[in-house]
Amino acid sequence: MTSTSIAPVTFDDLGLSPQILKAVLEQGYTKPSPIQAKAIPAVLTGSDVMGAAQTGTGKTAGFTLPILHRLSAGRRASSNQVRALVITPTRELAAQVGQSIETYGKHLSLRSSVVFGGVGINPQMMKLRKGVDILVATPGRLLDLYNQNAVRFKYLEVLVLDEADRMLDMGFLPDIKRVLSLLPKKRQTLLFSATFSDDIRRLAKGLINDPVEISVTPRNSTVNSVEQWVSPVDKKRKPALLTKLIIDNNWAQVLVFTRTKHGANKLAKHLQENRIKSAAIHGNKSQAARTKALAEFKQGVTQVLVATDR
Ligand code: AMP
Repeated sequence: MTSTSIAPVTFDDLGLSPQILKAVLEQGYTKPSPIQAKAIPAVLTGSDVMGAAQTGTGKTAGFTLPILHRLSAGRRASSNQVRALVITPTRELAAQVGQSIETYGKHLSLRSSVVFGGVGINPQMMKLRKGVDILVATPGRLLDLYNQNAVRFKYLEVLVLDEADRMLDMGFLPDIKRVLSLLPKKRQTLLFSATFSDDIRRLAKGLINDPVEISVTPRNSTVNSVEQWVSPVDKKRKPALLTKLIIDNNWAQVLVFTRTKHGANKLAKHLQENRIKSAAIHGNKSQAARTKALAEFKQGVTQVLVATDR
């Protein structure tokens, strides 16, 4: 393990190219977040990195900015080849990371693409045919594309596993192992995870080399701005209590997690019946329904989004 030096305080100190700094400035970011201050210099040197960071810490820019910088120096991807591969557990995260790459890379001439299941494979194959400098993918669709000869990794320079803990929770370990077996041994590998559990360390052992370890949040902590409390209530009366809390507090944007998909559907229906505009989002819904539910929640059309991690 290598420790990082004192963190620089401005984006200008980090050694990123003017085109990337311009895009960052256009986003209105004034200074790097703690994980960015540590991760960006480490990734720029070519080191492997293990980052313990939750969503909301700015980890996406922490790895995309230096990857864009490194890739803009080399030769562009040839047909069906990929130079940097970002694997994410969910379609939503893949789309989000892809969006960040487009935003931060808009003044560069690199090609990026996002591939996930639940939507047609042909447009994805067509984009890959031209060669993609950065590909963001969920594991299953990536393997489908590989099996159809649509993607090749001969010139792969960087691999990122984003939210690795969730990938293991979702049972993607066999897919990840299969993908790893297809990649060149000589490459840079970055692994991000909310926690470094024993399972994550076991996974990292075989694929990461003398990493710089970065941690910006203590294990299993919640961001300070979140107020938390417990309301003791009979199981049967939980939907009624939630309805009352939402109405009494006038909550405009509420995210609810339930244990099961069935529970999510039932609760969303209950809220709807009480004239609270709600939608359920989970793995049994089609990709179109999931995208729509998320978009309407962001726009404020849907007041309550009931989700599961399944
Ligand atoms: P992430 O943790 O990567 O999902 O990023 C969380 C949010 O922080 C995103 O909406 C980013 O646009 C935003 N963000 C990332 N880096 C910075 C920064 N240096 N300053 C302000 N906002 C940022």
